[in-house]
Amino acid sequence: MKRLSPGSTIGILGNGQLGRMLAQAAIDLGLKTHFYAPEPNSPASDNATSETIGDYHDLTAARKFAEACDIVTYEFENVPAELAAALRECAPIHPSPVALGITQDRLHEKTFLVKAGAETTPFAQVDNQLELKQAVEKIGLPVVLKTRRLGYDGKGQNILRTKSDTEGAFESLGSVPCILEGFIDFTCEISVIVARNTYGQISCYDPAENIHRNHILSTSVVPARIDENLAQRANDIATHIVEALDYVGVAGIELFATQDGRILVNEFAPRVHNSGHWTIDACVTSQFEQHLRAICGWPLGDTRRHSDALMFNLIGEDVDAWPDLAARPNYRLHLYGKRQARPGRKMGHVTELRPLGSFPPEGAPSLPSTTPAETIEK
Ligand code: AMP
Repeated sequence: MKRLSPGSTIGILGNGQLGRMLAQAAIDLGLKTHFYAPEPNSPASDNATSETIGDYHDLTAARKFAEACDIVTYEFENVPAELAAALRECAPIHPSPVALGITQDRLHEKTFLVKAGAETTPFAQVDNQLELKQAVEKIGLPVVLKTRRLGYDGKGQNILRTKSDTEGAFESLGSVPCILEGFIDFTCEISVIVARNTYGQISCYDPAENIHRNHILSTSVVPARIDENLAQRANDIATHIVEALDYVGVAGIELFATQDGRILVNEFAPRVHNSGHWTIDACVTSQFEQHLRAICGWPLGDTRRHSDALMFNLIGEDVDAWPDLAARPNYRLHLYGKRQARPGRKMGHVTELRPLGSFPPEGAPSLPSTTPAETIEK
């Protein structure tokens, strides 16, 4: 694929906050954005050069959109993979619809990861209650039962700790195709934001340590509290995955670090990732700019970190603390322009910057148990 010039139009499927931040980066690089999504007035709408409101199943409207773009990408991974494949006739599309399709199904994703040589949690296909029982016997309790498709933020999954938890567990997830995974008693969850461009150049950011609350990402800390050797292995795994997939763009690879020094891949997102938001403020090149560089055939930017970083999501009414957060000198506040704060809704994020070396991997300060938004009096 030829290198796209400034002034080119990047078509983006989805128009949430990830799209908003992609559009911000596009403006800096002299690129235009054209969004396609079903909902108007979404976070990306404020920054879009143009926007088409259309259904992900409306092939005619989606084709017209793609024909107006120099390249198409996604900020939302549940765009139907068939739609993405059809748009390839109208414009180049990155990451490939094949990569998108693999990540939309947890069973295909884990099968691909194992074939690519990555270690994952033990898993089994479960299509009915009997198969669940057999899979539990094979893997051993505790386990996590997940729907193969459309799960996010803990939705569509249940931890089964005892035999009685398994009764009716398949039905409770809607009797849809599932995957059963061994429950991993990890020491920490980390993620690697990796980029690969159209020429095969690859670069990784330092792994982030991620803390979830109520199954939603709450905090990312960089550097993660893991030793250098483990961090290098995590980046090697991420590099290997994007090479094996012939992937183009930024991907977020989520991993579990275990007590016995293993790194297991949990899943990968074929897009910019919430656990990479700290790169906007703490790195030479943000993950959003990196994604645009990768898909446009530009040289990848420098992923070096100039600060240590703690990124906190502002979820639901956390956002009400914005005046106090805005007053803190080493905090960078990002608000997504959403009108209504509903429980569980990501309204913005804050990145606390500290000088390099403030969070050494060994003996790092313990993480706050509450976010700054909670500790500040409202
Ligand atoms: P997922 O939707 O697969 O990213 O899962 C959401 C969160 O649930 C992860 O970030 C982990 O904290 C937890 N989780 C998922 N799968 C497992 C597993 N097999 N063992 C332990 N925890 C898990």
